[in-house]
Amino acid sequence: ARGTGCVTLRGAQIRDLLDAKHNVLFDCDGVIWNGETAVTGAPEVVSLLKQRGKRVFFVTNNCTRPRENYVQKFSRLGFTDVAEEEIFSSAYCSAAYLRDVARLQGKVYVIGCGGVMKELRDAGVPVAEEEDAEPGASIYNCPLDPDVKAVLVGYDENFTFMKLAKACCYLRSPECLFLATDPDPWHPLRGGRVTPGSGSLTAALETASSRKATVIGKPSRFMFECISSQFGLDPARSLMIGDRLETDVLFGSNCGLTTVLTLTGVSTLEEALAYRDGQEPQQKDCVPDYVMESVADFLQALEE
Ligand code: PLP
Ligand code: CA
Repeated sequence: ARGTGCVTLRGAQIRDLLDAKHNVLFDCDGVIWNGETAVTGAPEVVSLLKQRGKRVFFVTNNCTRPRENYVQKFSRLGFTDVAEEEIFSSAYCSAAYLRDVARLQGKVYVIGCGGVMKELRDAGVPVAEEEDAEPGASIYNCPLDPDVKAVLVGYDENFTFMKLAKACCYLRSPECLFLATDPDPWHPLRGGRVTPGSGSLTAALETASSRKATVIGKPSRFMFECISSQFGLDPARSLMIGDRLETDVLFGSNCGLTTVLTLTGVSTLEEALAYRDGQEPQQKDCVPDYVMESVADFLQALEE
């Protein structure tokens, strides 16, 4: 095998890896569930890890639900012992960033969805109201709120040209922050369909504003800092398990975590090997340390 990384995990190696780690960070979609279906064995793996004294966290770029809705989803899909405090979404972390890091003095203009709005409200971050479009409203006369000091872009199924135009106007001011919940380009849906991700909407606004957004979700280190500031994790004793090389694995590399790619989601073994064996040095951070078919491969090591 050329390069390093992409080691297929089996038997005793899995046990040794788990013995060496105290914290396990799971990506959600593509690792522990696909849409509304749990990955077979994933609920048992999470429970057994906890019974073995491991600390378990969930790190998702999906900004569409507030944390409390995730608790319901976990329970609906058979994960019986997951607490709200263990769930770190790009919506929750974006609100934490605006409150604790940016210490926003003013309002945030949001291109996003209910999950983002709820987390901002819970964090006490003021949001610029989106008034219903008046008849005759246009990019020439739609009202702009002078208190807006940040623009946050996330997943928005009601994205419009008008929202893009407004955000673009706010970003003319260099003092206005430009944040993105996550850079995800697209997501798989059932039946072979895909939906455009937040990253595609962010890209539109980046072009329109000639600015680059600060990304909050994976692969940015901020999500790990968010968990770490609450739970004090040692990166060397932490494992990141994900299905997307460019977000989950790069996030793990950026934070100094050991990384595992599972093949139940977006990225393939071939893509991982192409990064490993390719010429681009910056792609090496997308190479996982280990590869496994599914998180269910942890079961044997945990059941003994
Ligand atoms: N954002 C949206 C809107 C999604 O639908 C998904 C996956 O379904 C994600 C992000 C990615 O979530 P995760 O980071 O858990 O894979
Ligand atoms: Ca994923």
